[in-house]
Amino acid sequence: MRDDNCIFCKIANGDIPSATIYEDKDFRVILDLGPASKGHALILPKPHFKDLCDADPEIMAKIMPLAGKLGKAMKTGLGASGFNVVQNNGASAGQTVYHLHVHVIPRYEGGPKIVVWTPGKEEVAELEKTAERIKKQL
Ligand code: 5GP
Ligand code: ZN
Repeated sequence: MRDDNCIFCKIANGDIPSATIYEDKDFRVILDLGPASKGHALILPKPHFKDLCDADPEIMAKIMPLAGKLGKAMKTGLGASGFNVVQNNGASAGQTVYHLHVHVIPRYEGGPKIVVWTPGKEEVAELEKTAERIKKQL
């Protein structure tokens, strides 16, 4: 259920602080430290699954409804005009953290047409402010 060497296990279970915008018994949703756009969020299941192939279907069934709820909050809270839901499995697919997670990426008018990005940098204080703006809409 949990891997002591996994950073996302520590974040998901609250051992390491994060800009959290949503939490329930199955998930913690945080802002990505290297965001593709303002408000880029990561849905972290609390149990450790390496990737989608390793995941509990009951928990996974709850992820898309949660992604939709987050996307709606990004539209009303941040003024996004759309959003992408992205989930990488394996190094060749771009997975870098081997604790399953789903990216929810707000999109703004004039942004790139496809999900290819160079990670940006964001101060923790700014992440917290952005988290508040989304959290209020949930
Ligand atoms: P992947 O490439 O595995 O699909 O995505 C991993 C994501 O996690 C990347 O977008 C990266 O910026 C983000 N990330 C990695 N370590 C941390 C961390 O310690 N905190 C946060 N908030 N995001 C992280
Ligand atoms: Zn983990």
